[in-house]
Amino acid sequence: MTTDALLPSVASFVSAPKQLLIDGELRDAADGRTFATVDPATENEITQVAQAGAEDVNRAVASARRAFEHGSDWNRFTPRQRGRLMWRIADLLEEHADEFAQLEALDGGKPFVGARDGDVATAAELFRYFAGWANKIEGTTIPLSSETADFLAYTVREPIGVVAGIVPWNFPLTMAAFKIVPAITVGNTVILKPAEQTPLSALRLGELMLEAGLPAGVVNVLPGFGDTGAALVDHIDVDKVAFTGSTAVGKVIAAAASRNLKKVSLELGGKAPNIVFDDADLSKAIPGSAHAAFFNQGQCCVNGSRLYVQRGVYDEVVAGISEIAKGITVGSAFDERTDMGPLISDEQFSKVTGYLEAGVAAGATVAEGGVRVGDRGYFVRPTVFTDVSEQMSIQTDEIFGPVVTAVPFDTEEQAIAAANNTRYGLAAGVWSRDIGTAHRVGGRLRAGTVWLNSWHADDVTLPRGGYKESGWGRELGSFGVEDYTELKTIIAEL
Ligand code: ADP
Repeated sequence: MTTDALLPSVASFVSAPKQLLIDGELRDAADGRTFATVDPATENEITQVAQAGAEDVNRAVASARRAFEHGSDWNRFTPRQRGRLMWRIADLLEEHADEFAQLEALDGGKPFVGARDGDVATAAELFRYFAGWANKIEGTTIPLSSETADFLAYTVREPIGVVAGIVPWNFPLTMAAFKIVPAITVGNTVILKPAEQTPLSALRLGELMLEAGLPAGVVNVLPGFGDTGAALVDHIDVDKVAFTGSTAVGKVIAAAASRNLKKVSLELGGKAPNIVFDDADLSKAIPGSAHAAFFNQGQCCVNGSRLYVQRGVYDEVVAGISEIAKGITVGSAFDERTDMGPLISDEQFSKVTGYLEAGVAAGATVAEGGVRVGDRGYFVRPTVFTDVSEQMSIQTDEIFGPVVTAVPFDTEEQAIAAANNTRYGLAAGVWSRDIGTAHRVGGRLRAGTVWLNSWHADDVTLPRGGYKESGWGRELGSFGVEDYTELKTIIAEL
């Protein structure tokens, strides 16, 4: 498939400038500003997109507040009706799976098949999983009595109100769903700020949700840059910010949110350690570790980018992963032979190639890759570094590209100490045939998700989030539902 093969619906969607979605209507930015969204494979502009400013943020927040208020159409939806609506949205997403996958391929450089069977399928599953929660948000009863009276005390969970979802570019549709779905499950309203690099699929999702019967104002979509996100975080009438992105911006958001103490959940950066022991099943550990490192062009916060290998199998593992890296076909997201698409942007390309240079300058060895591909588009070869020390920037920083560092270790204690030697704590992994080793070491890794003898095994039922500077709160699963509610305790004297 080539870009000439865009579905008519996608070709028509990108043929005109895209508008903001506010209060159920598509409209230009109040100040008329637009920005270009770019195809990372060609560096060509795909289309212009309306850029939401402060006035648009005010309008969207006002619309979300109206939609949330008592007596609104949305407020009158029963939990069961919310669940049914979410099933309808999931069905529509699946009907339009090819279209969404093409938007992700075009705007985000994601290989088409992976986008369709991964990103779009996950987004649909999110709607279905949470649809089941809609009528299961229950409270508790608490026995209570004093010398003078008996009481009935109970708790109820209520929606928080207006939620701002701010998301990155690495999984544009799935991330949009991560924020929208749990929020609307319990009756909140949402303003979604997609990343400036990838606004298209979120806008299309917004349209589709209206088509499915979501009342106006329940989900507003405001493309824009960091200042649009900051205006949402600063807004006094936003009750919660749900953010996925860099640790640096997460800290800015946490500080800004203190203005009205709005609730904040943060899913931030990572630099996940992946530990392979001598006794691991290498026929699984080698391809599994390559997948851990290179999934999604390496642009995934839970990727296993620090590989620690026990001395006895170090050479074999490094050779095996390098061989896999060498065999990866880097190319257009629309070419079905492609395993790895381009990085997302010029900025990301410069950042990743900058780390490649910094690694070499610091004395690390490029065992495989280390170069760009072609001279147009943001393509980089998957890269394996050896001779890495713990102080090098390629070892301490989240590169967010297809780059893995391999370091040998001798003892379990050494591996655990090195693995935990990071400010991040999002994910980690252990490969060993010894069930005791796997669980013992996994138990001591300071990370929100730990994979044993696997990597990226994932499901919408599983809570996720980070220790340390990888964030606040947990998303998805039952924890994810709670995070979008307020808990009220009611005490009645009997
Ligand atoms: P990345 O480095 O992956 O691009 P960022 O943390 O910079 O991640 O961006 C993630 C999201 O946060 C994007 O939608 C971006 O526009 C938004 N953003 C950037 N700066 C701010 C800010 N100061 N306040 C709120 N949102 C922001």
